[in-house]
Amino acid sequence: MTALVIVGHGTRSAAGVDQFAGLVDRVRRRNAVGEVEGGFIELSRPPLTDAVATLVGRGHRALVALPLVLTAAGHGKGDIPAALAREQHRHPGLSYRYGRPLGPHPLLHTALAERIDTALAGADRAGTWVALIGRGSTDPDGNAEVAKVARLLWEGRGYAGVEPGFVSLAEPSVPAVLERLRRLGGRRIVVAPYFLFAGVLPDRIVAQARAYAAAHPELDVRVADPIGDCDALADLVLERHAEALRGDIRMNCDTCAYRVSLPGFADKVGRPQTPHDHPDDPVDGHDHHGHDHQGHGGHGHGHGHQGHGGHGHGRRGPDGRGVELGPGQVAVVGGGPGPDDLITVRGRALLDAADVVVADRLAPRGLLAGLRPEVLVVDAGKVPRGPSVGQDTINEALVGHARAGRRVVRLKGGDPYLFGRGHEEVLACAAAGIETVLVPGVSSAVAGPALAGVPVTHRGVAHDVTIVSGHLPPDHPDSLVDWAALGHARGTLVLLMAVDTVDRIAKALIGHGRAPDTPVLVVQDAGHPRQRALPTRLDEVGALTVREEVRPPALFVVGAVVGLRG
Ligand code: SAH
Repeated sequence: MTALVIVGHGTRSAAGVDQFAGLVDRVRRRNAVGEVEGGFIELSRPPLTDAVATLVGRGHRALVALPLVLTAAGHGKGDIPAALAREQHRHPGLSYRYGRPLGPHPLLHTALAERIDTALAGADRAGTWVALIGRGSTDPDGNAEVAKVARLLWEGRGYAGVEPGFVSLAEPSVPAVLERLRRLGGRRIVVAPYFLFAGVLPDRIVAQARAYAAAHPELDVRVADPIGDCDALADLVLERHAEALRGDIRMNCDTCAYRVSLPGFADKVGRPQTPHDHPDDPVDGHDHHGHDHQGHGGHGHGHGHQGHGGHGHGRRGPDGRGVELGPGQVAVVGGGPGPDDLITVRGRALLDAADVVVADRLAPRGLLAGLRPEVLVVDAGKVPRGPSVGQDTINEALVGHARAGRRVVRLKGGDPYLFGRGHEEVLACAAAGIETVLVPGVSSAVAGPALAGVPVTHRGVAHDVTIVSGHLPPDHPDSLVDWAALGHARGTLVLLMAVDTVDRIAKALIGHGRAPDTPVLVVQDAGHPRQRALPTRLDEVGALTVREEVRPPALFVVGAVVGLRG
């Protein structure tokens, strides 16, 4: 026997929570289904977690989960499946069949007509225009469903006309649709919220309709109630439950922006749904309506779980909590020392999500070939060199693309914060008000020696390692390195960016006490098939570098650890 869990999104409205609870109770009293519980994915009590725990506690391992949403949009396709996936993590072995959204359905249209009739209080339908107001979605397909319902509501019911509008995220807005109806000659207009229950957004519809009416005293503007807890809704829930048991979860995806390219939305195809805040939602701390970027980041936009015919449009991080790159954000990603597969899993995921990739010369450039064809690749290695011109150009590119709403990945070699100017880029973005994500990388300073068989520390041999930039020679006035201390020290030295300076550096180290026969390993192109590893000594490394025509990228490991090489 399966149990039914009815999943709501959550609302700040106490009346809305009561109506949800009332509906759950109404479905339960029908005694048509085994056990029935209801829970919310955010904002309201009880949380989904409690509802699932109750059912699991009573021995249920197979649930039907019904998203209590009217249209197939982000909540039903992404957020609620993500929340259910977290429950499956919590309760290994738990399976669920996912039902489809409630609408469109004749029961709903009849209920809407009844709410409109109540608002009309006997006034005739023929002289009445209806503004059907949906929530509004960033998915045009969700908005199109509201337009479809508007048409279905009009068919055969005798209204002068029914026009769709949206309270958030989509046009026309409530005042815009009222203005349209006024211009069409409407004098009596019923604003009908296409909403299940009371809530912040239905309240806003009322306020906006009243404000418009106050400015247009010649009009008769009335507002209908949302559908609310009623028998028709309970009937529909039971119907969707039966469908889910039969495995019938058809949902319109033919014109879904995540599946087919729509004008102006081409960037959504095949992408995870990105978290967004409804621009007009109240913001109070982290708990605002909508989506907390830390919380359930990575809403996979997949539906049809349990393998019945679903298609995952998006990708979610492990246990639904992957770090996401939103539009207008910049990720500074360490790409590792060179081979394509030494980037981190996180770095790779963000790279796959990028619209623009600004890649360094030493980044794992093989990965660029695998990017989607529409991704713009900016070759930072080709930016004219110079003390700061190049960096300014790169910073401007990062900020410019982010401001244009693109997901930007700055792909760097090794770790971005080791001689990588990564923090300069993060600061430049921050100064421009751009959000950044920093993804550490495997640094060549440690991985380069390792890939050539040398550990930078080893018990009983070297208990410290110093990573030094050799881009300035020891006698350079701008040098910040205490070469005398490094000469006296006994630990491992790893020199980066030192191909041109290694001779002078070696002499300085010997001058300050390092033994001339200290073993040195030159590692060029670590990790690449063309990797070279040349063993030598401190007093010979300069000559060898010239003779062997060592070319960047190369590093020098200095110290007894070099002798450990197998
Ligand atoms: N942020 C990078 C280092 C940037 S400085 C990191 O963490 O790895 C660039 C220097 O790194 C090069 O001049 C070279 O000294 C070293 N380097 C980078 N990749 C290398 C590789 N594959 N093999 C050897 N040295 C490398």
